[in-house]
Amino acid sequence: MGRIRITGLFLALMLLLGGCVRTDPVNRQFFAMDTIMDFTAFGTGAEEALAQAEEYIVDLEKNISVTRQDSDIAMLSRVSGDPVRVSENTFALLEQALELCAATGGALDITAYPAVKAWGFTTGEYRVPGQEELDELTALIDYTALKMDKSTRSVSLPKGLAADLGAVAKGWAGQRLHDMLVEEGIESAMLVLGGNVQTVGSKPDGSLWRVGIQDPDSDVGAYLASVSVSDKAVVTSGGYQRFFEENGQIYWHIIDPDTASPARSGVISATIVGADGGVCDGLSTALFILGAEESAALWRSGVLDFEYILVLEDGSIHISQGLEDTFTLMNGYQNRKVTVIAP
Ligand code: AMP
Ligand code: MG
Repeated sequence: MGRIRITGLFLALMLLLGGCVRTDPVNRQFFAMDTIMDFTAFGTGAEEALAQAEEYIVDLEKNISVTRQDSDIAMLSRVSGDPVRVSENTFALLEQALELCAATGGALDITAYPAVKAWGFTTGEYRVPGQEELDELTALIDYTALKMDKSTRSVSLPKGLAADLGAVAKGWAGQRLHDMLVEEGIESAMLVLGGNVQTVGSKPDGSLWRVGIQDPDSDVGAYLASVSVSDKAVVTSGGYQRFFEENGQIYWHIIDPDTASPARSGVISATIVGADGGVCDGLSTALFILGAEESAALWRSGVLDFEYILVLEDGSIHISQGLEDTFTLMNGYQNRKVTVIAP
């Protein structure tokens, strides 16, 4: 009798502890890839999985950082012309990046780096280049000049050109981490990599993750709206994320490859929701440059699977139809005009 009672108590305790393990979040925050990373995961093994995730990001950054002398990407511009053998990660990331450059008609162009640098966005020593310099910079932006050789896992770039994966790396990394966590048996996690949110599964109680979209005009990072998702990435590009002001004009870090200057398309923030974090990140940058009409055309073409939210200069919002049921304006923003873009 006594033994049965003890066993019963033990079982009850196990269930209680089991419940704790499933619902207690494990959190990990660190600085990498020029931003704050904030990872939360639930379930058995979450602690180890997040430690592994941080390790992965730190390693990846060594390979792809444009400012680290010894990275694959820095080497690529330094050796100019000669093939550089790169890590598996760098190669895979470059492959997806080039596909997205092509799919966006070159709005995304990972060789925009000389222009990003000339405007001072890499150092914080901001300046407005003159027209002659801008013309020269425009001629240096050409992702089609980047050649990849799968058999030797090597990449080359002509003299004067330079690549930068800042527009795609965090989303791509978020997707890799997603796959890693799933492999480790994690069913519920939210990974925030700066403006990139990658969710794994849904919340522990089975409900959707609610991801806030920042008000691009807010100085205090207020949320304008939210979308509810499960197992998807939500990635935002906004002029507010890095900019400077000169003579009353604002210049931000997203460069239009056609002008080598900050993109002015009427879009002040672009959010992409989709099943592939890499695609979402590349497209968030591209849609910011493409503007409302070309973004709608790209979405309608069905070449890539994604949904989007654009905030325009006049404060109005465009959302693609797939988000209609999960997009919600926050309190204080209920009077915003929202246009649903139909297929
Ligand atoms: P994101 O925050 O994903 O929109 O990426 C912005 C970063 O991508 C910038 O800080 C630049 O390093 C880089 N970048 C700027 N313009 C472009 C462009 N047209 N194509 C690719 N990368 C860009
Ligand atoms: Mg991006």
